[in-house]
Amino acid sequence: MRISTKIFIGLLGALLAFALFIGLSQYGTIQIRKEEKRLTLLNSASRSISSSVISSRMYLERSTGRDYVFESLAEGRERLLSVQSGTAKDEYAFIQATLAQIDFYEDIFSTLVESKTSLSKLEERLIAQVYNFGEESLLIQNRLESERERISLSIGENDEPDITQIQLVDRFIAEKAYLWGWMNRSIVIIRHELGTGYDLDVDLTNVEETNAVITEKIETLESLGPSLSLPELDPFMATLRSIRRNFESVSTEFALAARAESESRMMIELHGEKLRVMLEDLIYRFEEISNERSEMLAYIYWVSAFLFVLGAVLSTLWFTLGIIKPLRRLSKNFSDVAAGNFDLRIPAHGKSELAELATSFNDMNDRLRRSYSEVEEKVRQRTRELQIATARSKKLADAAQEANLAKSAFLATMSHEIRTPLNSIIGFSEMLQDTELDDEQRSDLAAIRSSGGILLDLINDILDLSKIEAGKVNMEITAVRLEELIHEVTSVFKLSAANNGVKIELEIANDFIDRIIYSDRTRLYQVLNNLISNAVKFTQEGEIRVRAWRENHNEPTGDRIYLSVSDTGVGISEDKLEDVFLAFTQADSSTTRKYGGTGLGLAISRRIVEILGGEISVSSKPGGGSIFTFYIRDQKVDEKTASFADVSNHELSFDSVPLVLVAEDDPINYKLTEKILSRFGVKAIWAQDGRQAVEQVRHNEFDFIFMDLQMPELDGIEATYEIRKQCKDSKQPYIAALTANALGESREASVAAGMNDFVTKPVSGDSIKAALLRYSDYMQSGPAASQS
Ligand code: ADP
Repeated sequence: MRISTKIFIGLLGALLAFALFIGLSQYGTIQIRKEEKRLTLLNSASRSISSSVISSRMYLERSTGRDYVFESLAEGRERLLSVQSGTAKDEYAFIQATLAQIDFYEDIFSTLVESKTSLSKLEERLIAQVYNFGEESLLIQNRLESERERISLSIGENDEPDITQIQLVDRFIAEKAYLWGWMNRSIVIIRHELGTGYDLDVDLTNVEETNAVITEKIETLESLGPSLSLPELDPFMATLRSIRRNFESVSTEFALAARAESESRMMIELHGEKLRVMLEDLIYRFEEISNERSEMLAYIYWVSAFLFVLGAVLSTLWFTLGIIKPLRRLSKNFSDVAAGNFDLRIPAHGKSELAELATSFNDMNDRLRRSYSEVEEKVRQRTRELQIATARSKKLADAAQEANLAKSAFLATMSHEIRTPLNSIIGFSEMLQDTELDDEQRSDLAAIRSSGGILLDLINDILDLSKIEAGKVNMEITAVRLEELIHEVTSVFKLSAANNGVKIELEIANDFIDRIIYSDRTRLYQVLNNLISNAVKFTQEGEIRVRAWRENHNEPTGDRIYLSVSDTGVGISEDKLEDVFLAFTQADSSTTRKYGGTGLGLAISRRIVEILGGEISVSSKPGGGSIFTFYIRDQKVDEKTASFADVSNHELSFDSVPLVLVAEDDPINYKLTEKILSRFGVKAIWAQDGRQAVEQVRHNEFDFIFMDLQMPELDGIEATYEIRKQCKDSKQPYIAALTANALGESREASVAAGMNDFVTKPVSGDSIKAALLRYSDYMQSGPAASQS
């Protein structure tokens, strides 16, 4: 399958799983919200019903809040109806039952309201009659009082007052007052104002008792009435009878109404409680359902989340394995090809991108194989050409070196040969000066003497330079007191400088006071002498300063010992600065005329400084003086070289004869070395270049290696690095560099590569013997001691 299809399927799967997850959680949230809403509605329905039950109790006691009860019930009903929609069958039936209960409760309450209303109407009527009786009773009272007065006044007329009649009137008045009192009491009872609290039974008993008393009092009044024979009493008595009837019916109705009210009250209490319990049940039921649903939804949520994660992990695994595996295989194949296995072919099936990649890879591999063969062929060809060119250039270089050697040898011989007759010329000129001569002859002779002297200087310098260039100069390293040497050289020039009014100042670092360094004293003297003589020659006023100090450059060959000669003389123009170190070069062509000299002094100085392991440089400005600075190395490492300088005093003997490898590309040089070694009983094995040397060391344990520095393939320095890396510490051979030039640079590089010794070419019996002596000394004192 194509990777893009895989990515598409993976993404689609992830998207679907995500959509499912979102959908389910959304559904869950909606359901939970619905349940919450339903519960809120139920709670508020319950609140409405509860408040209607409480309000109906208040209505019972105070006859107020009737409308509020009906409103609350209607509200509760309405809320329950809205909960009802969308509920399950069981809950639906339960809500229906609760609604029926609400209806029933409402009926009970309505009955209660009705009975309360009718009772109160009855009461009102009764109260009105009682007030009516009160008025009539007041009129009768007046009439009775006047009747009493009349009876008492009739005493005068009849002389005999009718006591019985007066008593009768008094009794009637008293009974009537009683009746009035009881009637008022009955109103208080009916209005529940007795202070007994709202106890219907107590009120009922009181009503009955009052009723009995009133009946009894009315009866008494009725029995007394006829005896009074007052015509106004008849309507009063009629009212009394009507009141009596009313009281009786009120008493009966009150009893009935009170019973009905008490029943309604009980019913309200009972059904109110029932309603409350039903609603609580409903809420509890819905809460349970809601909890169950929430749990269920949470479960669905977690299952969908798990399925989502599982789906994501599985599709990632499927996707990753489907791509990583072939990619890894491909990457391994790439590495194989990079390692040179161009025959490799990757199976490419199907139409996937990886198959396309494999096909492209195979094509690339084919092309690489072809171009690699072509390149190989080209490299072989170029190598052949290069080998031919190298051989040719080596021949040319050898020829040039031979020519140079021949030139130097010729110059050395020639100068030597010229020196003999020149000495005679000078000697004879000096002798002739002591004879009798005229002025002209004396001046001519002086010219001959002076020219001879110049020529001799020139010849000596040429001889010196030739010797150095032909490698015929061996350094003689001895202990040197630098401070002393500087004093010695400067003392020669002090006088001639002072004649020019020039002072020579010295600045020698404390390092060199009463201390020794190791160097070639004669050659060091020669360099200093040359620099100071030039300074004196080119300085007409001012001062000449000679300085010596030491500097540490963290080099393996140790500190640099610096010497400088500065003057306040004529100076050198910038374009001539570098040339002054070349042979036969003078900064100014007028120099020879004015100051003399050969132009060889600085060339010789530079060669000597290099042999002593350092470098020379100059800085100068025309008219502003010059500073010549050079450094050399303390050749302490070569202390032994110095000690074995005269090999004739030393006997060569070995504990065990060393196995020697000679790495030398020149067969003649090898032959010479091998012959010399065999004279000392040492057998040599030949390596024609650095590469062969490294190979030989891999197969044999050599004790000593003479390593030519300039070789084809791998030079001596690199071969030494390889050998030092390759051999174990205990098996490290003693390595001596063989070099045609004894310059400081090669010496530094040799030491850095890990060479132990340094033999200058052309080799001689003495130099080889000295090297073998140093080797056996090294073996006796131990490599560790020597390294320190
Ligand atoms: P020479 O024998 O001519 O002095 P050198 O090699 O010693 O040969 O010097 C080369 C040239 O460098 C001199 O001819 C001179 O022109 C220049 N030179 C050397 N030293 C000084 C110096 N201290 N001040 C000015 N020029 C100098």
